[in-house]
Amino acid sequence: MGKFVYSFSEGSKDMRSLLGGKGANLAEMTRIGLPVPYGFTVTTEACTRYYEENQMIGEDIIGEIYEKLAELEAVTEKKFGDKENPLLVSVRSGSVFSMPGMMDTILNLGLNDETVESLAKLTENDRFAYDSYRRFIQMFGDVVLEIPKSEFDVIFDGQKEKVGAAFDVDLTTDDLKEIIVGYKALVKKAVGRDFPQEPKDQLMEAIKAVFRSWNNDRAILYRKLNRISDKLGTAVNVQSMVFGNMGDTSGTGVAFTRDPATGNNQLYGEFLVNAQGEDVVAGIRTPKPIAEMAEAFPEVYKDFERIAEILEKHYKDMQDMEFTVERGKLFMLQTRAAKRTAVSAIKVAVDMVDEGLITKETAVERIDPAQIDQLLHPTFDTKAEKTAEVLAKGLPASPGAATGKIYFTASDAEAAVESGEKAILVRQETSPEDLAGMVAAEGILTARGGMTSHAAVVARGMGKCCVAGCSEIIVDESGKTLTIGDDRLEEGDYISLNGSTGTVYRGQIATVQPELSGDFGMIMSWADEIRKLKVRTNADNPKDAAQALAFGAEGIGLCRTEHMFFEEERIPAIRQMILAETEEERRTALAKLLPFQKSDFKGMYEVMEDKPVTIRLLDPPLHEFLPQTEEDTRELAAHTGIPYEKLAQAASELHEFNPMLGHRGCRLAVTYPEIAEMQTRAIMEAAIEVAAEKGVDIVPEIMIPLVGSKAEIADVKATVVKTADACREEAGSQMKYHIGTMIEVPRAALTADEIAEEAEFFSFGTNDLTQMTFGFSRDDTGKLIKEYVDKGILLDDPFQTIDQDGVGLLVQMAVEKGRQTRPNIKLGICGEHGGDPRSIEFCHRTGLDYVSCSPYRVPIARIAAAQAAIKDVEK
Ligand code: PEP
Ligand code: MG
Repeated sequence: MGKFVYSFSEGSKDMRSLLGGKGANLAEMTRIGLPVPYGFTVTTEACTRYYEENQMIGEDIIGEIYEKLAELEAVTEKKFGDKENPLLVSVRSGSVFSMPGMMDTILNLGLNDETVESLAKLTENDRFAYDSYRRFIQMFGDVVLEIPKSEFDVIFDGQKEKVGAAFDVDLTTDDLKEIIVGYKALVKKAVGRDFPQEPKDQLMEAIKAVFRSWNNDRAILYRKLNRISDKLGTAVNVQSMVFGNMGDTSGTGVAFTRDPATGNNQLYGEFLVNAQGEDVVAGIRTPKPIAEMAEAFPEVYKDFERIAEILEKHYKDMQDMEFTVERGKLFMLQTRAAKRTAVSAIKVAVDMVDEGLITKETAVERIDPAQIDQLLHPTFDTKAEKTAEVLAKGLPASPGAATGKIYFTASDAEAAVESGEKAILVRQETSPEDLAGMVAAEGILTARGGMTSHAAVVARGMGKCCVAGCSEIIVDESGKTLTIGDDRLEEGDYISLNGSTGTVYRGQIATVQPELSGDFGMIMSWADEIRKLKVRTNADNPKDAAQALAFGAEGIGLCRTEHMFFEEERIPAIRQMILAETEEERRTALAKLLPFQKSDFKGMYEVMEDKPVTIRLLDPPLHEFLPQTEEDTRELAAHTGIPYEKLAQAASELHEFNPMLGHRGCRLAVTYPEIAEMQTRAIMEAAIEVAAEKGVDIVPEIMIPLVGSKAEIADVKATVVKTADACREEAGSQMKYHIGTMIEVPRAALTADEIAEEAEFFSFGTNDLTQMTFGFSRDDTGKLIKEYVDKGILLDDPFQTIDQDGVGLLVQMAVEKGRQTRPNIKLGICGEHGGDPRSIEFCHRTGLDYVSCSPYRVPIARIAAAQAAIKDVEK
């Protein structure tokens, strides 16, 4: 038979899964001799049994609870229901992972019509005793008997009105007694029985209620958001009460061993004389800085300082503590690892390594990679954001904070910025032509598109704040209005975007610029020592490449050449190329593009020097480049001299119903080899020239996208090899080069052994691989996927974190098959998942050589890769 109840003296911090976080730490504090009001913990396993046995507590468990209760009575020399010296307890939930405020708490349990009088006598404070009793009935009524709190409020407020009391404290003992009569009548009416007077009954009912609270709506939602298993159950802590509201030698407070905002090594917290924790939470009184406790209670403060130090050294981590002072005596009510900002997390971790408290590995493990973002982008002033009005919610497509006036076209945004405004570009969805506007704007908001939509990918690349797929808003680009429900915003109105949460606010919110401190560099260098995965970046221009290098990128894993054509002067040439009817026409257009491409690549090589750079051959979903409007087509006709009708006809012939599965990727190079020829030439000539000019070794990596079979890659590869070899010969160069492929079509993963015969490297394009494995359109399913996640059909958006069971299986298979054919094949990932910590852990376990992600995610990837390596060793 199991054991289901533990006294605080029996447990320890290592028993978290059984005792819950709070219970384990209360036991640990007791074990190391700190002053903790005594008590016991009913385990999470008892909670599981409660649910298994149709919400009943078994006789054996009840027996154990009574046994521990007797022990508690002996230790405290108080007794449940005793008229002279009654035992009062708190009953609190405590799950394995902290779920702050999600479950219920009951204080002052043990009070009844008799013990309330004893409490009054003992404390020589009638008002205090009756106030405690009425609070207890209310809490018990709400949590255990499930009577809406508002019904108690009606009685309470009624009494206040009746006697003309402005504040709660104006109520006299007699008023409180009257309220208690009202409360008890309410209970009787609502549940058909009297408020339980027997403390043991109160206790058993309260324990059951805490078990039930594990499954209240907000707890379920919190677990879902924080990926906590529903199966764990909660423990229940029963602890003798201490009172901080017993006069001027009592008090209560919350404190951190260091500053959770800055990491400074000094006690930080708040304190209130003559108060209970509740008063602080309810905002009834404003607490004082903890330092003032030194004046109010010098002895107690010294004691508290000493305990805080013991706790921090003991747990080897910054602690968040709750305490109460009852008539000059200090009691610890809780300790736990403190939540902290990214700045604080980094400073505390580095300081603790210096102090010899923790290892570098532990320091790296303590950093939440997702939090690193806070350090790289501007953020909102927290207070200002809290009070701002939320207009809508979209996808957190690219982190950071932006505030500005709304503009509905790229050119309007650009013009506004030129005249000194701050602009937010609002579009139905963005297209390559919006690039200049995106560069100029502070942030981007789109109504459509998912996490891998054009706006999202491009914004992340630039490190620009973006909220995408905000389906609540209606964007009228020509009418220049933005509608959300009944609200209508017009060009020039201010909005603010939080790209880290996807929230859209009305008006302006002040932003705070990030600072990269020395501690940040230190943590990063430790991460680099530990990690096995290399970290590259996805970049298509020298500026982004340089930014990524500054963030520690070790190469470029993906240069999307189609992004290089987004610039305005190039769009006509690429359109001309796409719409060309003959090879000759196409070659004319390509000849215009060659110098652009070559200078682009030279720019990249100049920044990256001898670091690896993977350049991908053109992979445009054609629709992104076709003229969008009649005006576009007319402009193109004027520009190229090709008759308008001919261009319009060609554009309509190229229209695809499903462009993402259409004439894109290597299919383009199969049908028009001259495109691959031009690009290969641009790559090789650029590399040869920069290598000579800079005296560095460059080995170009040419990547063929969207391959599905060996024959397909072989076809394109023949063109690439022929052209590259010709370039070498013309230049009299011996430059080596590598040819590889993206694995992004499921068939490529399934036949990776054959494809590896032609490919020297694989780069997993998990955006398309996810799209094609699920059959979810990358650009259209943002809203749908959100609903799937809300319903629990999907645990996560598979475009954000890799679907390890499905898409991941294809990756693992391709890794295995690729290595069978070519043991030293280079393996990387360049889909958006390359910057997602959980996906990075998967890549580490799967044995990839590198991950590649947008520049601003490089530091996150470095930390996540190190954490994956540490976890691997620990296993
Ligand atoms: C991918 O499909 O994962 C990829 C990196 O390519 P793109 O996003 O350009 O299609
Ligand atoms: Mg792709």
